[in-house]
Amino acid sequence: MEQALEQKKTIADVWNKRPLIISGPCSAETEEQVLATAQGLAATGKVDMLRAGIWKPRTRPGQFEGIGVKGLPWMAKAKELTGLPITVEVATAKQVEDALSFDVDVLWIGARTTVNPFSVQEIADALRGVDVPVLIKNPINPDLELWTGAVERVAKAGIKNIGLIHRGFSSYGNTEYRNAPMWHLAIEMKRRNPDMMLICDPSHISGRRDILQEISQTSIDLDYDGLIIESHIDPDNAWSDAKQQITPEVLGELVGNIIWRREDVQSAEYHAALEKLRQQINQLDDELMQILSQRMKVAEKIGLYKKENNITILQTNRWNEILEKATAKGGKIGLSREFITKYFDAVHMESINHQNKIMNS
Ligand code: PEP
Ligand code: MN
Repeated sequence: MEQALEQKKTIADVWNKRPLIISGPCSAETEEQVLATAQGLAATGKVDMLRAGIWKPRTRPGQFEGIGVKGLPWMAKAKELTGLPITVEVATAKQVEDALSFDVDVLWIGARTTVNPFSVQEIADALRGVDVPVLIKNPINPDLELWTGAVERVAKAGIKNIGLIHRGFSSYGNTEYRNAPMWHLAIEMKRRNPDMMLICDPSHISGRRDILQEISQTSIDLDYDGLIIESHIDPDNAWSDAKQQITPEVLGELVGNIIWRREDVQSAEYHAALEKLRQQINQLDDELMQILSQRMKVAEKIGLYKKENNITILQTNRWNEILEKATAKGGKIGLSREFITKYFDAVHMESINHQNKIMNS
């Protein structure tokens, strides 16, 4: 234990470490489970912080709703044994107070809490005058303003160290993911907050083990600052989120398999080559814009004919024909059906807007 204490890093060191790896069970269940998972994780040498849910926001009543305050001393003990700082989810002022009384190093606000400004404000008020880092998960719905609002409320309470966790967005019906990643939203959030840490939570995005590696790699390729991944000493028998948890050993392998990329290198050759390719991209983007502008002009001419002959703008058959041809052709030249559909939808809408102006002028 002495050795563990010697290795103990301050939370400031850990907060600034890149990549930052957080792991631990979805829920703290028993003292043995928390300690065994924590020690297994520490033994991999790949984890910087321990997580566990103490209070669990469950979609339906009657499921395991967390062990409650009783679990906090287990987390404190896990920290003492491993030297790793700890983080738990908080959703109320009382939970903030309880967590802080057990020296929890980092608090996190869950996706179901970020959606509710009342709850976020209550947490922010409880944090006034406290110097504890806070991680804020994206809200369950794809709304960047709500995510931003939560960040602002916590920042206004005087919290200096705020990080973002991207855990995906819920959607109706089954998709490949438990929560659709919608990477572009997290990228936009990062663009708006360039100095704020952004961590990926592949466990809640995937909801299953088999694609954790792939999602983790995608986030690292997108220059995320770290990962939060659920792990459990006996994943199949976990009291919550059993399907997505992995053992500490598997977690160690997963982190070990990630290819870490640098955002930048100092090599002049690399920069020169990249610059050339970027110029090509700029040139092509410029040409695409010119062509799109020409296309709109043709659409306007069609609009004029339609106006003269009193015909509707939208002609569903014609539109289906365009879309079918385009997706077939796109497939042959390496453009996905998903992209072609989005692209043609956008072009079509812009065309309709241009024709609308003509017809109603
Ligand atoms: C969790 O991390 O266990 C959790 C409840 O996640 P989320 O808030 O992303 O649903
Ligand atoms: Mn979970």
